[in-house]
Amino acid sequence: MSTTTPSDLSNPRESLSRMMNRSESDTQSARILLVDDKQELLTSLYHLVTLYGYEADQALGGEAALEALKAQEYDVVLLDLIMPGVSGHDILDHAAREKLGCKIIVVSGDSSFTGVKHALHCGAFDFVKKPYEAAELIATMETALRQVRLENQAQIMEERLKESEELHRFIVNSSPDLVYMLDRNGCFTFINDRVQDMLGCDKEDLLGRHYSEVIVEEDLDAVNNLFNERRTGGRAVRNAEIRMQGRHSDQLGAHRAQTVWSELTAMGIYADNNERTRDNFVGTYGTARDISQRKQAEEVINFQAYHDLLTHLPNRALLKDRLNMAITHARRNKRKLATMFLDLDRFKLVNDTLGHTMGDRLLKAVALRLQSCLRKGDTLSRFGGDEFTLLLPEVRTRDDVVVIAQKILDRLSEPFAIDNHELFVGASIGIAMYPEAGDSGEALIQNADIAMYHVKGRGKNGYQFFSDEMNNQFSSRLSLERELRNGLIQGEFEVYYQPQVGLDKGEITGVEALVRWRHGRRGMVEPGEFLPLAEETGLIMQIDEYVQQQAFHDVAAWHRAGLGDLNLSVNVTAAQIEQDGFIERFVSALKAAGLDARFVKLEITENTLMQDIEVIVPKLKEIRGLGARIAIDDFGTGYSSLSYLQQFPINTLKIDRSFVGDIRADQGGASIVDAIVAMARGLKMDLVAEGVENRTQLKYLRDQGCEEVQGFIFSPAVPAEDFVELLKSNRFAQLLGDQPVAALA
Ligand code: C2E
Ligand code: CA
Ligand code: CA
Repeated sequence: MSTTTPSDLSNPRESLSRMMNRSESDTQSARILLVDDKQELLTSLYHLVTLYGYEADQALGGEAALEALKAQEYDVVLLDLIMPGVSGHDILDHAAREKLGCKIIVVSGDSSFTGVKHALHCGAFDFVKKPYEAAELIATMETALRQVRLENQAQIMEERLKESEELHRFIVNSSPDLVYMLDRNGCFTFINDRVQDMLGCDKEDLLGRHYSEVIVEEDLDAVNNLFNERRTGGRAVRNAEIRMQGRHSDQLGAHRAQTVWSELTAMGIYADNNERTRDNFVGTYGTARDISQRKQAEEVINFQAYHDLLTHLPNRALLKDRLNMAITHARRNKRKLATMFLDLDRFKLVNDTLGHTMGDRLLKAVALRLQSCLRKGDTLSRFGGDEFTLLLPEVRTRDDVVVIAQKILDRLSEPFAIDNHELFVGASIGIAMYPEAGDSGEALIQNADIAMYHVKGRGKNGYQFFSDEMNNQFSSRLSLERELRNGLIQGEFEVYYQPQVGLDKGEITGVEALVRWRHGRRGMVEPGEFLPLAEETGLIMQIDEYVQQQAFHDVAAWHRAGLGDLNLSVNVTAAQIEQDGFIERFVSALKAAGLDARFVKLEITENTLMQDIEVIVPKLKEIRGLGARIAIDDFGTGYSSLSYLQQFPINTLKIDRSFVGDIRADQGGASIVDAIVAMARGLKMDLVAEGVENRTQLKYLRDQGCEEVQGFIFSPAVPAEDFVELLKSNRFAQLLGDQPVAALA
C-alpha cells in the first residue's frame, strides 16, 4: 500500500476539476466600487466612470462602503478619504486587515504629504488629488485594473502549476509500481513512495545511492546489461525479471533480508532525444513492478510438477531428465553410472496395520535416511508408493556401488522410532549400470526394477546387479502379470509336496503343499519369482484356492489308499482369508475332496496375521472351530511379541529356515532357535523346523526337543507321484533308524 493519506487523495482531484472548469475571462468585466460622502461628488464620479464604459457600484459614506466590501469582491475601489463616521482611513485599515484583493485608489482633497503617505502606507494603490482630472483618474483606475488582472492571472498560473505538480506527484506516488530515476552514474535521483512498501526502506535513504545496492547479486549482470544497453542507444523500453533486495522490518523492528521479484523496465533519458548517444545520455528512468506473488505461484507449480509432495524428493519426471543428462555426459566422457531401484520390504505391513498417516511419516523418515547415504550430485527420487530410485552419476566400478547399496541397507536396518512405535523396514535394491545394463534411461530403470524383483524373490533385504539372464526370465512386471493370468487359465500351476518327518519314529507325519508354475516356454518357475507379484495383484487368491483344492483331493486319496493319517499344511495369505466367503469355500473344498478338517493346517506368516487383526483373527477362530489347525510360518522374522501370540488361536510355530541355517557344528548353541523352542514350550504350541539340510541341524533340533522337521535332508518338494513313492518306501525311518541320537551328528 502507498503511504498517501485519504486527504491527499481527495485534494488533487478537487483541484483538478476546479482547474478544468475555470474560465479565463473573468477579469473582462471589472468590478468597481465608488465611495464618497457627498452625493453630488459620488454621482459625478459615477458618470465619469460609466462614460468610459465601466460598470460601478456606489457607496454613500464609510458605512455603506464597508457593507459593500463585505457583500462582494471588488477589483478597484475609488475611495474618498475624509468622511464623517467611518473614514477612508478606516476602510483602508479594514481592507488590510481582511486582506482584500482589491486595489484602492484614494481620491481626496487632502493632499498633504502625511495624508498621502499614510494612505499609501495603509495599502492604497495610488492617490488622486481632488479635484481630479478625468483622464488622470481613469488612467489611474485602468492601471489598477490591469494590475489586478495580471495578479489574478499570475495567481491562477501559480495555482495551476501547484495543482499540476501535486497531481503528478499523486499519480507517481500512488502508482502500484516503483518509479525511479537514475543519474548517468546509476545513482537514484528520484524514487516514489512505493519503495517504502516494496523494499521496506525510506526513499530518502536511497537517493544518491547506486542501484546495485538494491539488486540481488546474482541478477546484477542482467540489470547492468539492461541499463548499459541504454547508454549505447538502441531501442526505447527494455525490461527484465530480476530480484531486488528488500529490507523489511519484522514486528520487533529487526531487519530481515527479503527478496522481491520484480519486473524492471528502463528507459534512457537523453539531453537531445534525437541524438541518443553516450555523450547525450543523462540518466535512466523506469519502473519496477512487484511480481513476487506470480513468481511464487510459478515456483510452486514448478516444484509440484517435478517433486513428490510427501517427501519433497524429485519425482519420476525430474529423475528421467537428470538420468538422460547423466547418460549423455557419461557417453561423452566414457564413464559409468548406476541406477538403483529400491523397494521397501515391510512398508505395506506398516501401512495396513498402523494406518496411512504412519505410513507417510515412515516414508519421509526413510527418504531422509536415504539422503544421508548419498553424495552431492546423486539424485534420490520417489518413484511412487514405497519405491525409490537413485541415480549415481559418479561411479567408477561396481565396488563403488556395492559400498553405497550396503550403506543404504545398513542404515535402513536400524529401527525407525515413530510415535512410540519401533518400525523395522528392509529394502530390496536392484542395480543397473550404464552402459552394460542399458544405454537409455528407460532401459536402466526397467532393468534395475527387474533386478530388484530378483532380490524380493530371494527373500528380500539385499541388493543385486542386473544381468542379461534376468531378461530371459521376465522382462517386466507387466509381462509377468499377463503371463500369470494366462498360466491360471492354461492350468500351468502344479502342487508339489514336501514331507514333514516326526523325529520320534522317523515317519512322514505330514506334508506341505507348495505351488509350482510349469511355464509353457520358461519351464519350471520358482514361487519366489512370481509370488510377490501374485500377492500384489491379488492373483494369489486364485492360485491358493487351486493349490488347496488339489492338495485336499490328493491327501484324501492317500488316506483312502491306506498310506497313513497324513496331515496337510497349506499356505494362505491375508488377502485370501479376508475375502468374503473364505470359510464357506474352504468347507466346500474339503467336502468335495472328502477330507476331514482336522487333517488340515493353515500356514500363515506373522506379517499376514498382523495385517488386519480384527478381520483375520475371528476367521481363524472359526477355522479352529471346524477342527483345522493354524501354524505361524517363518516364525521369528516378523513383529510378533509373545503377548500378541497368546491372543491368537495358534497351534504350531514353524521356525524360519534362516535360523535353522545358522546352526553350525562349530557353534555351541543357536540362541534364536533356543529362544523359539522355549517360547513354543511356554505357549504350549507344537514346533516344526523347516529348512533342515544336514545332520548337525537335525541333531541340534532334536536335542532341543523339536518334534517335527522338514527339509532337504529328507526331501525337497516333489510331484504327487514321487511323494507317493516316498510314503511307500518309508526310508526316513531307515535314515534315522534305531541309532542313538548321538550317531546322527
Ligand atoms: P515356505 O512356506 O517357508 O516354504 C518352505 C520353502 O522352503 C519352500 O520353498 C521349500 O522348497 C523350501 N525348503 C524346504 N526345505 C528346504 C531346505 O532344506 N533348505 C532350503 N534352503 N529350502 C528348503 P518354495 O517352495 O520355493 O516356496 C517358497 C515360499 O513361497 C514358501 O515359503 C511360501 O511362503 C510360498 N509358497 C509356496 N507355495 C505357496 C502356495 O501354494 N501358496 C502361498 N500362499 N504361498 C506359497
Ligand atoms: Ca509354508
Ligand atoms: Ca516357512
